[in-house]
Amino acid sequence: MSLVLLSLALAVPTVYATVPTISDWNALNNTVGGRLFTAIPFASSCFSEVDGRTVTPLQEQCDIIQQHYSNATFRSSQFNNFMNTQWESCMSTNEQCALDASNASDSLAWTDFPCEQGSIAPYYIDIRNYTDIQSAFNFSNATGVPLSIKNSGHDYFGRSSVAGSLGLWTRNLEQISYNASFVPDGGNESYPAMTIGAGVPWEDAYIFADSNNVTIIGGYSQTVGASGGWLLGGGHSILSPVFGLGVDRVLQFKLVTPDGEYRTANAYTNPDLFWALKGGGGGTFGVVTESTTLVEPRAIPLQVAAFSFNATTNTSVDFLALLAENSLQWAEQGWGGHLKLNGLISVNPLLNLEQAQESMQNITDFVQSHNGTGVVETVSSWYEFFVKYVLTAQEPIGIDAAISSRLIPSSVFESQEARNALVETIANAAPYFLTISTVTPFIYNNYTENSTSVTPAWRDAVWHFLFADLWSWNTTTDGKIAVFQTLNNLTAALTDIAPDSGAYLNEANVYEPDWEHAFWGDNYPQLLAVKQKYDPAGLLDCWRCVGWKGGNDSVSQCYPALD
Ligand SMILES: Cc1cc2nc3c(=O)[nH]c(=O)nc-3n(C[C@H](O)[C@H](O)[C@H](O)COP(=O)(O)OP(=O)(O)OC[C@H]3O[C@@H](n4cnc5c(N)ncnc54)[C@H](O)[C@@H]3O)c2cc1C
Repeated sequence: MSLVLLSLALAVPTVYATVPTISDWNALNNTVGGRLFTAIPFASSCFSEVDGRTVTPLQEQCDIIQQHYSNATFRSSQFNNFMNTQWESCMSTNEQCALDASNASDSLAWTDFPCEQGSIAPYYIDIRNYTDIQSAFNFSNATGVPLSIKNSGHDYFGRSSVAGSLGLWTRNLEQISYNASFVPDGGNESYPAMTIGAGVPWEDAYIFADSNNVTIIGGYSQTVGASGGWLLGGGHSILSPVFGLGVDRVLQFKLVTPDGEYRTANAYTNPDLFWALKGGGGGTFGVVTESTTLVEPRAIPLQVAAFSFNATTNTSVDFLALLAENSLQWAEQGWGGHLKLNGLISVNPLLNLEQAQESMQNITDFVQSHNGTGVVETVSSWYEFFVKYVLTAQEPIGIDAAISSRLIPSSVFESQEARNALVETIANAAPYFLTISTVTPFIYNNYTENSTSVTPAWRDAVWHFLFADLWSWNTTTDGKIAVFQTLNNLTAALTDIAPDSGAYLNEANVYEPDWEHAFWGDNYPQLLAVKQKYDPAGLLDCWRCVGWKGGNDSVSQCYPALD
């Protein structure tokens, strides 16, 4: 549906510095086996004006889009959309092709606005092998056409979405395998490991791991990719407190670097690149085709704590204070999860059921006294937990949303005074509360200092705390700017609580002011050196990524200026 023959593409307006000729595009199409396509916006079938042309809406297709507008699996199976829909639009110019997320059949969305290309890359390659990526780098080098890399499209900064770019869609790199004694190229030790193609979503990785009776440590979403931005930016799991971040467990990458080389990166081969890929962020050092990651060679039984109650303004603050009071002890015991103002969901691979019940006793008491419900129970595996608790409670997608976050260190939980300040800061901004993710590698002990490039703030953090704000399909550019300013204020409030800490680059404020330090701490200069070594021509660029060319660069044209 989203695939239109190349010949039609020539009508799509572009913003290239150097406009490629028809024969340039045709030559590219030939080198990638005819898998160069054009993309028109996800919801264009509902509109009667598309990119300045009057067209007849395609009702049948429009019905399908309306039906699946909030369906992450449907969205991630197509190139022409993103999970947070502002990244389909060009926010700075208000060009969009959006439906009303609160009611996808609201016809005002397609009668009040025309459909415009926005940030959807007008051309993309359906990547099937590394030579496709080499062709794309050659093309970009020769023509100046910027590149974007899209896997699932979950990125909170819109880094997989670049207006006017040639998109590299990795979703169909779906290979997946298990090797009980994987040896990284050039090494001699073996590990139980899964090798996962760049397009594999977490749900598929979990199903595969379960069928091989092993446990892979991954994200709390069925559609986030296992080998793309999640891993390259750090990759947290609710099992990370005990088993580490994704970057603590990856053994090897295969990728094409922007100089056109197809490379292996591991502890023995290109170790500088390997280090940079372990936290330096997606879309920066090359296009990964697959990663190989350590697995636990068994299904791991977990204790699960799941509680909820109907919170009021007052009881939610009381509950928050209780969470703050207990969080350090829970981190030391190996709990990981998502804590809310009206309940929590956490897992623990270390305690037995009785210990888990005891550890959660004061939560049980609180929730019972507020007429809530809850359980502490044992599940036999991560996959059993995933099916029962994760698939039934996915974050809403297909909306315009942005976040603000901070890693909150253990020192904040050690004194009553600091805990009070934390609770007060959050309570003052309660309408923006999103979640407290207890996903930091707090007691993970198989870690060598400086072995990854994520901010060291991860290691001592107890909470990865997130605020969020939303807007609607017809919010003006000024309205969006106001949301981002609010999120900046919230970031400032969190930074006051934890000034020396940092933030998770995959789930952070789009306008994080101190982004180099917040995302990478003292690792930034070394990351920049690796970037310059493997991408000397700067072919890959993205918003607040290592080596970012800044707000005036063409890849940043759709982010509105806040001043
Ligand atoms: C609903 C939801 C749930 C989430 N849950 C978690 C969670 O549990 N844990 C967690 O840590 N994070 C989570 N995240 C954040 C998630 O890690 C990031 O959004 C991440 O960037 C997604 O990576 P992706 O490849 O799936 O998405 P994309 O948006 O496709 O890509 C993200 C970034 O990686 C780059 N990229 C993608 N593929 C490649 C590749 N093959 N080579 C090089 N660069 C590539 C893109 O260019 C972009 O910069 C969640 C996000 C959402 C929206």
